Amino acid sequence: MTAIEHHFPHDYRQARHAFIAAAEAAGLGVTSRLHPSEKGADGKPLFLDTTTIGQRDAKTALLLISGTHGVEGYFGSGVQTGLLREGLAERAKKGTKIVLLHALNPYGFSWDRRVNEDNADVNRNFPDFKRLPKNDAYDELREAIELHGLSREAMKTANAVLRAYSNRHGAFKLQEAISAGQYKHPHGVYFGGERESWSHLMLKDVFHEELKGVNRLVAIDCHTGLGESGAAEMITEDLPGSDAYKRAAAMWGNVQSSEAGESLSPPLQGTVDQAVAKWMKGKELTFAALEVGTKPTRDVFTAIRRDNWLHQNAQPDDPDWPSVKREIRDAFYVDTPEWKRSVWDHAMKAVDAALAAIA
Ligand SMILES: [Zn+2]
Repeated sequence: MTAIEHHFPHDYRQARHAFIAAAEAAGLGVTSRLHPSEKGADGKPLFLDTTTIGQRDAKTALLLISGTHGVEGYFGSGVQTGLLREGLAERAKKGTKIVLLHALNPYGFSWDRRVNEDNADVNRNFPDFKRLPKNDAYDELREAIELHGLSREAMKTANAVLRAYSNRHGAFKLQEAISAGQYKHPHGVYFGGERESWSHLMLKDVFHEELKGVNRLVAIDCHTGLGESGAAEMITEDLPGSDAYKRAAAMWGNVQSSEAGESLSPPLQGTVDQAVAKWMKGKELTFAALEVGTKPTRDVFTAIRRDNWLHQNAQPDDPDWPSVKREIRDAFYVDTPEWKRSVWDHAMKAVDAALAAIA
């Protein structure tokens, strides 16, 4: 058996090869959806890959998603590949299936960005585009959230404005202003997009192909970047007291509702959870984001803001490029054996509990 930390990839390309190799070694086929226009940081094509374990016509399923937020994919991809290497293919009980969706946002994964090729946050890209949510606090703070440069001076001026807001309204309100999502500033951060992105359409397609006939679904969407380094939170968007919340709590023990203010995440709009809930309407869905911590939130936001400036204003030959890319990779992926073992354990507990619940 390979040491846990070797399941985690160095980059998108290696992640994809390892995922496909592990699936094929387990006798599984892989469906690859090619991105029609974008290329990876290595100049090569980008794909969303899926493999399905178990009975095609199963009515009960587990869906495991990685790379919704691109650069967060190191974690989810490592989990998926490790699961395949360690015998996941034998674990689908009769009447159930397991769908692994690798790199929902392959562009962000390859380029070490949280967002996709449209500068859009895939986990804010499922709103009603005719009635887009507002984010007045983002509008108010926009000049400070969106950096004017990478210099120490530029950072200092902008951060003073954010600190003043945090002092007035609290740190969580500042976090909400920045990260709840916004639909007005395409060059800003946490932009939800102007239209259904490629990843949005492909998720819908995967759902149609693999999960349409399912009437009982458990879904885990792997994320990183919130919470203490190596700690985990199962975030549900369902409210305490609802059946979905009760199922999640029974399955995973400790769950936190972002809608009820229990979670490290503020309430969000246009999420993958909400999209799947719409497609599963009238059927049973238990959905959670498995969120594992990396760095302090402030450092994570700084990395995102600097990366956003870089992609709006510079090219890969810019002298600042390597350090900013390193910074954002580190903000979402703690590349140490200790961290990997810790997040691996959290993921295994979540997956084991989900498989026991659908058995
Ligand atoms: Zn995320």
